Amino acid sequence: MSLALARKYRPKSFADVAVQSHVATTLKGAIALGRVAHAYLLCGPRGVGKTTLARVLAMALNCERRGDPALGGEPCGECSSCQRIWSGASSLDVVEIDAASNRGVDDARELRERAMYAPSGDDRYKVYIVDEAHMLTREAWNALLKILEEPPPRVVFVFATTEPQKIAQAAAPVLSRVQRFDLKRIGAADIRARLERVLREEHVEADPDALAMIARAADGSMRDALSLTDQALAMGEGAIVPERVRDALGLVAEDEFIALLDLLAEHRAGDVFEFVARLADAGIDFGQFLTGFGDMVRALLAVTLGGTPPEVSEKAREALEQRKRVFAAGDLLRMLSIATELEPRFRKSGQQQLLLEAMLVRFALLDRTVSLESVLRGLGGGSSGGADEPSIGPSSARRASPSASASPASSTRKAERASSDTPATDWRAVIRDADRAPASGATAGARSERSVPAAAPAAAVQPSPAASRAARDEPVTEALAGAPDLNQIVERWDDVVAGMRAAGKSVAATALEHSAPAAVNARGDVTIALDEANPIYEQALESVKPELVSALRRWFPGVQRLVVRAPQGASAPPTRLTDEMVRSERIAVLRKKDPVLDAAIDALDLDLAD
Ligand SMILES: [Zn+2]
Repeated sequence: MSLALARKYRPKSFADVAVQSHVATTLKGAIALGRVAHAYLLCGPRGVGKTTLARVLAMALNCERRGDPALGGEPCGECSSCQRIWSGASSLDVVEIDAASNRGVDDARELRERAMYAPSGDDRYKVYIVDEAHMLTREAWNALLKILEEPPPRVVFVFATTEPQKIAQAAAPVLSRVQRFDLKRIGAADIRARLERVLREEHVEADPDALAMIARAADGSMRDALSLTDQALAMGEGAIVPERVRDALGLVAEDEFIALLDLLAEHRAGDVFEFVARLADAGIDFGQFLTGFGDMVRALLAVTLGGTPPEVSEKAREALEQRKRVFAAGDLLRMLSIATELEPRFRKSGQQQLLLEAMLVRFALLDRTVSLESVLRGLGGGSSGGADEPSIGPSSARRASPSASASPASSTRKAERASSDTPATDWRAVIRDADRAPASGATAGARSERSVPAAAPAAAVQPSPAASRAARDEPVTEALAGAPDLNQIVERWDDVVAGMRAAGKSVAATALEHSAPAAVNARGDVTIALDEANPIYEQALESVKPELVSALRRWFPGVQRLVVRAPQGASAPPTRLTDEMVRSERIAVLRKKDPVLDAAIDALDLDLAD
């Protein structure tokens, strides 16, 4: 069996360690100048080269040619000491300890005692590499502190950790006795470059798309990238092509993601279940699927914004180009942030299929972000002309002209969407309808096609007969009233926000997210406190007061009145909104709400100022 690539191509010099040149150069210089510290702390995500650097350091310190000016602090890589340490063969002078299994105080004491023995030769260094150092207990660190304070000559400790903050918590004094380096995550491009070099030496051809897939799956870890390449090589002979990588890694074909995007664009929510079932039958890892789908949405967003997605195949890029007018950038951003929010919960969940289905159905029902612009238009007192299109990206005319190259079905839908474009007044009707919807939902058919998905979440919370009577603005009798409880209102707050968003009132919903119920009095007056002084939010809340009261009455018939309170002192008098204010504010709000947009703007270096 051939040697695993990660071992075979383990760096023999500082210069070989990918990406971490800021650390490698410093260590090399320290050796050349004879100023090696007694203890180093190497921090960074897994697979970025922490133990590799530690081993190269050990090689350099013990190299038979150490001090040779030609080497400049690098190990020669060829002498018997270098060879021994590099190959991991037993070397008296390099001790690797996995703190995960030797974390106690006894282990630390033993380590301390062993460290007191001199290295095996006069000119040699003893290097202790303690991996997963954050696993050491507080007591173990205490036992080690002593030796870190008065280190024996020619003993070097290298602690490697993925979680330096845990060391700071358990043993803060340690940090002042070690020289700390933070290693960088390795980017996909660097991983690809390294894989290309390794495979060239192995005389294996590799398709660039295939290497990109591996680099993506490795998620910043060079070690993982090399072992995934091992897996792909083990799948067969000849060049590494995308299909082989996909099989080896159990990845989902890009075509599947494209098909899913079409399904979502065409609002085929019902088809989501069959799609997910097919994935389940194929034994696809849902977590990996979610990551892959996120990558594809991000790539489509980049294409939609006029950028170039760096990490998809040429074929996928063409497919995305054809679909760049199918989703609004805002919808893609919402999908991305929903997927991102779901991910941590998703990994731990035993209900992954359910979560995935629910998320995709939500996407299929997703309405256009254009409602935000409509609301803002209403708020801003009617900016006219062409300036009210979203300012993101150069293709602001995209909605008006459905792409001829998009699939027929999506073009049709596109046209429907365009025809049901919401004028500024329409959302008021929508929320009024939503408020007056009786439990039976009989009026649903009467609403516009567009408002059906939007109103669905609100309708899902069935008001009680009494509450719906209240929602229909009938006088609320004292018998029904009874002062509502503040805690209960707080608990319902997310639903209130969701209802507002579902009704297309995005700004008000955002404003509600920036506020919280602060007080309720016996008369049923609810005070809402904004968490920041923001005239836009204040105005948005003021303008939806009646709707908010109705919404709250569904659960709390006693609610009579709403008071909006801005933070004390900070609030400027509500100025009249200018179009420019609205525009810059909504960009700020979008950026703040949506880290993905923020990142996209920065990554693509977009100029969002109109
Ligand atoms: Zn050497």
